[in-house]
Amino acid sequence: MNIGIIGLGLIGGSLGLDFRKQGYSVLGVSRQQSTCDIAVQKGVVDESSTSLELLATADLIFICTPIHLIVPTLEKLTPYLKPQAIVTDVGSVKGAIVGNCGQLWSNFVGSHPMAGKTEQGINAAQSGLFVNTPYVITPLESTPNFAVEILTEIVEKLGCQIYYSSPEEHDRAVAWISHLPVMISTSLVQACGKEQDLNIRKLAENLASSGFRDTSRVGAGNPELGLMMAKYNRQALLISLKNYRQNLDQIIDYITREQWQELEEILVSSHQYRANFIQSK
Ligand code: NAP
Repeated sequence: MNIGIIGLGLIGGSLGLDFRKQGYSVLGVSRQQSTCDIAVQKGVVDESSTSLELLATADLIFICTPIHLIVPTLEKLTPYLKPQAIVTDVGSVKGAIVGNCGQLWSNFVGSHPMAGKTEQGINAAQSGLFVNTPYVITPLESTPNFAVEILTEIVEKLGCQIYYSSPEEHDRAVAWISHLPVMISTSLVQACGKEQDLNIRKLAENLASSGFRDTSRVGAGNPELGLMMAKYNRQALLISLKNYRQNLDQIIDYITREQWQELEEILVSSHQYRANFIQSK
């Protein structure tokens, strides 16, 4: 089987490394010739090109470009595809992508690997990135079963745990555990950086250790990706943000009124909920 990858960055590059290890022939397309050259040198792909024509022999294609380019990329790709070719994308939002792509290509199946890191681009690609991470597949009722089955079979080989959901359920769930944390973490960093007393700000920077590193990490990732999450999952993200603000206001209220018992109840319940959440994985 020939696997095609469009967008040889962190996710596309990491998929290429793993698929080649599995013995698949990997054809890669990226925007810049320099990225294509690095991809071949690093063993991410067997062949690379800046032209989508390279994918004329591909059986399964992963679109790994930034979110806003996924639908336009499929539109440009369809004239080159084999009739039975299956196309998927790895975009972090699904509602805005899956319906449109399904109309452009009937063998399209939306998906989203729930793995990543702060760095981006081909040089951040790493083998084994997806091991023991969730991989969500988001078919529509109209999506052909054979396309879902083949995609499942291939991504299972990455060592992922597969989940299925509708695009809308996916977007509501990731708003809570991925997109909201990015916004909270960003606002944390912003608030700390705006401390008016320079001595205190400097001291805080010097004292920052693992707690701050953990809570600020997800807000320090690819800024373009954070923006796309907000633009393309706006509705679900706003619901999560408003719920979060209510919880924060509640905490502010308890502290203002010195309602220590109520605050303790929240802290105990969070402690337990997180422990259960992590244990269930
Ligand atoms: P990335 O490292 O910036 O990689 C994206 C690559 O797409 C770039 O390296 C760029 O390659 C290429 N590209 C841009 N425009 C293109 C075009 N018109 N045609 C072909 N290639 C093009 O970003 P990423 O983190 O891998 O994210 C890619 C996708 O994965 C996004 O849709 C994102 O939502 C999804 N995703 C990301 C994460 C994460 O944590 N990062 C996790 C899961 C899913 P050049 O170097 O050639 O310009």
